[in-house]
Amino acid sequence: MAREQKIKLGVLTSGGDAQGMNAAVRAVVRTGISRGCAVYAIYEGYEGMIRGGDLIRQMSWDSVGGILHKGGTVIGTARSTGFRTREGRRQAALNLLNHGIDRLVVIGGDGSLTGADTFRREWPELLRELVEAGAIESATALAHPFLGLVGLVGSIDNDFAGTDMTIGADSALHRITEALDAITSTAASHQRTFVVEVMGRNCGYLALMGAIAGGADWVLIPEHPPEIDDWESAMCAALRDGRASGRRDSLVIVAEGAQDRHGKPISAAYICQVLEERLGEDTRVTILGHVQRGGAPSAFDRWMSTLIGHTAVDELINATPEREPQLIGMRENRIAATPLMPCVTETHAVAEAITAHNYEQAMRLRGNSFGEAFRTLRTLVRSKPPRPDSASQSLRFAVLHAGGPAPGMNTAVRAAVRLFIHNGHQVLGAKNGFSGLIEGDLAEMDWMSVSGWATTGGAELGTNRKVPQGAELYQIARNLERFNINGILMIGGSAGYRACHRLFAERHTFPAFNIPMICLPASINNNLPGSELSIGADTALNSIVEAVDRIKQTAVASRRCFVVEVMGRDCGYLALMGGLATGAERVYLPEEGITLRDLQADLDEMIYWFKHGKRLSLVIRNEKANPIYSTGFITALFEEEGSQLFEVRQAILGHLQQGGDPSPFDRIQATRLSVKCVEFLIDRATNGRYDGAFIGYKGGRVQIISLEDMPRLMEPTISRPRDQWWMELREVAHAMRQPPDGLRG
Ligand code: ADP
Repeated sequence: MAREQKIKLGVLTSGGDAQGMNAAVRAVVRTGISRGCAVYAIYEGYEGMIRGGDLIRQMSWDSVGGILHKGGTVIGTARSTGFRTREGRRQAALNLLNHGIDRLVVIGGDGSLTGADTFRREWPELLRELVEAGAIESATALAHPFLGLVGLVGSIDNDFAGTDMTIGADSALHRITEALDAITSTAASHQRTFVVEVMGRNCGYLALMGAIAGGADWVLIPEHPPEIDDWESAMCAALRDGRASGRRDSLVIVAEGAQDRHGKPISAAYICQVLEERLGEDTRVTILGHVQRGGAPSAFDRWMSTLIGHTAVDELINATPEREPQLIGMRENRIAATPLMPCVTETHAVAEAITAHNYEQAMRLRGNSFGEAFRTLRTLVRSKPPRPDSASQSLRFAVLHAGGPAPGMNTAVRAAVRLFIHNGHQVLGAKNGFSGLIEGDLAEMDWMSVSGWATTGGAELGTNRKVPQGAELYQIARNLERFNINGILMIGGSAGYRACHRLFAERHTFPAFNIPMICLPASINNNLPGSELSIGADTALNSIVEAVDRIKQTAVASRRCFVVEVMGRDCGYLALMGGLATGAERVYLPEEGITLRDLQADLDEMIYWFKHGKRLSLVIRNEKANPIYSTGFITALFEEEGSQLFEVRQAILGHLQQGGDPSPFDRIQATRLSVKCVEFLIDRATNGRYDGAFIGYKGGRVQIISLEDMPRLMEPTISRPRDQWWMELREVAHAMRQPPDGLRG
């Protein structure tokens, strides 16, 4: 019987490097091996494909070990002029055929992906030419009739159609916010103005999101130049207003490709000059440059790149000559395949629209959420305290937290306070969650009271897990009347949701509860109904990833297994996503529990691998995965049973997961959701409608659901939504584990 030929696939990184490329390469190699394919890394991009030899190497399971946390790309990238020529591509085809490779995962920007598509289209002709030249047998050409191709976008600019996020963009935003936070602290000390230039020749994503996350006062992006010719005056007026209302620092962010309506570039130096001349301010320019490409990949870039690398292999295995090559990316919070070349064409269309000064078209092509983010930022930077006469018809809204602290809570409060005030209303902050409403501990918040809150962790208003009951409900009702509250914004976790639901359910008893109220999901556990992501979870994941990176470094000299316990309560999100982002071999989730049989099997597997040269093993356990098989128990069990082979150490990460300044993603989402909540409350209160609701993301879109539906969406006895989108990702975590015996490559 003829043995089926092994599928041989190649993976390369090309063009500019981006953090997260290694995670994608690792996922391609490991998924390929676990699917029974032979996987080859092509070093130095297309240059390596042309030069061949040692630059095309078969990868083993272990050859991609220990790279997940590294920035850049360990298989190298290069610009190749040779690949732009037909001779170069013919040589590249020959080198691939020498290894039997006829499927490619190309990780790069639009240039790299365009080149890959040209190569794919020419493939049959290139092979015919090689046969004619006597370089290959015709049987070889017949055995490889087409080139399977999948593209992954590696680009820190997030400038690509067909994926909501490109590999590296989130990490670049991390670098930008770190820099902005550092700059703002020094700027505030000296009352300085800073102009910061970020990357993005045709794409304002980094500038716009950096501005939202960094609490900037003005932003300039290529897709949406200032609408007026004398934009300099408008910018100076906004900055002057900010100063007048007490800001100690001013921050302008400019994308490197920013231009005015006539296509004239706007440089950071020019902005600096304008501000110095017109405002007489001490202004400094910082050009972030390559810092944005550097550093360790963020948690998101690690798990997203892992998922898309994994999916790319399955796509390639099923490639046929008829199926168009696909781009694998993220769309609406899911991994999605989209025909590659239309995405490249659409990406070029944005650049062309900018060159043609057709900015409306450029913004339209960027998509809804980009436009929405731009409008949000404009509202926030334009917001200033209302003139005294406009306060007369104002409504009064209460803002409070409940549940555990979640990074991003302050960011959400800041946006809400400023938007309420901007719309002529008053805001009262209730201290320490529902205790503040019970005790009447509410204080009016003014414009400057939230200054600097965009970037800080913790919860300035205070938060706790109190869910009011009995006489406390009466006290709340009294205080709502006493303070004339027209609506409530609760930014918090499951205790807050339960408390709001209780108030909502008790409306018939307490007429004071007949006001609109809305819950904004903020919990590191990501265990709230109606939202696929809650504020704080991304920061917590980044804290986990950073901690595990450090823990792993301590294992340089010995064979060691780490059992790391993470938070999450009854929800395994942090454990699973943390596991994907750190490369854990095993993840224990509360959704699945832990059995003695699991532990025995995991231990057997671990012993096997340590016997076969493994040096480091990582197990992540959610804090409530099993009440008896605790982290300490598992550590002791593994230690006892594996003592001759490996040491075991436990690390309970604890409260560091709730701390830290919010990640850029959490800041951006907190701001976006807060804007929607404020719109909701003002609309309902103005129209005398007393809706109770919670807001969230589903498939990347904002949705608002009635509090009435909360019980239906939750598990009956524990704080966990019934439907958890991320549970399907367990399969990927499984594929990234050690492969069955004999497949180690
Ligand atoms: P990016 O992929 O980040 O856009 P480049 O545009 O520099 O970066 O492309 C990387 C490499 O891809 C180039 O050095 C070249 O080898 C190849 N490439 C780019 N455009 C083409 C093309 N039109 N035809 C063939 N190869 C191309």
